[in-house]
Amino acid sequence: MEKREQLYEGKAKKVYATDDENLVIVSYKDDATAFDGLKKGTIAGKGVVNNKMSNYIMQLLEKNGVPTHFVQELSDRETLVKKVKIVPLEVIIRNISAGSFAKRFGVEEGIVFAEPTIEFSYKNDDLHDPLMNAYHAIALGVATREEIETIKAMAFKVNSVMKEYFLTLGVKLVDFKLEFGKTPDGTIVLADEISPDTCRFWDAETNEKLDKDRFRRDLGNVEDAYAEMMRRVFGA
Ligand code: ADP
Ligand code: UDP
Repeated sequence: MEKREQLYEGKAKKVYATDDENLVIVSYKDDATAFDGLKKGTIAGKGVVNNKMSNYIMQLLEKNGVPTHFVQELSDRETLVKKVKIVPLEVIIRNISAGSFAKRFGVEEGIVFAEPTIEFSYKNDDLHDPLMNAYHAIALGVATREEIETIKAMAFKVNSVMKEYFLTLGVKLVDFKLEFGKTPDGTIVLADEISPDTCRFWDAETNEKLDKDRFRRDLGNVEDAYAEMMRRVFGA
């Protein structure tokens, strides 16, 4: 596999073409942003943690019947994935109230929901990723009704697999963001990443935050939190 030109540089990853038009290489950076890009920083070693954790989880999900973009880990920071057309929706699942949910509805963080919730944001930086419901997405041609139904079913399946898995590591899966993409034949697969950047993880005993909230909220020990999640997934 030959790495070719850079196709895209995002906030946390770069994407490179390869000599296979159906495959791209994602390269994970240590750069971190929050609050719509207003807060910027670096988290040393984050790229390695996110790459390896994301790949581990994607393979776990594949074993559980969820199709993903994962093909092969190439190095600590680089992974070969299927090139997909990203459906421009951020799909957010919540098990426990936190973040923008707690703010929007004026409730405290930590309310354990009887059932998980799902919401969509329109992935559009110029518009600051506005909340979007399924009808809006269908009306605007962002996705078809069938694609929305597939995405919803896959997102809840991802939640049940991940929730159970992280609990075995002594971690509560509070909420997370997923992105889905379409392969050339129209199949919907899970894409992007699953990591402490995109999930809220709380220690099951102490509720200590082990995710990007440590960066967002200046809680300190940011690198330690990422390293701790790495240790729980892969052992010491
Ligand atoms: P952002 O674009 O939000 O700054 P990143 O820095 O993570 O985010 O950039 C990675 C980009 O690659 C994102 O836009 C993401 O949607 C896209 N992407 C993720 N997986 C794939 C894939 N398999 N094929 C094509 N693009 C992908
Ligand atoms: N999230 C993400 N990218 C985004 C927005 C949210 O990965 O652009 C994740 C975030 O890490 C959290 C979940 O989605 O696990 C829910 O985030 P929320 O809506 O509470 O927003 P935030 O508090 O991050 O602004």
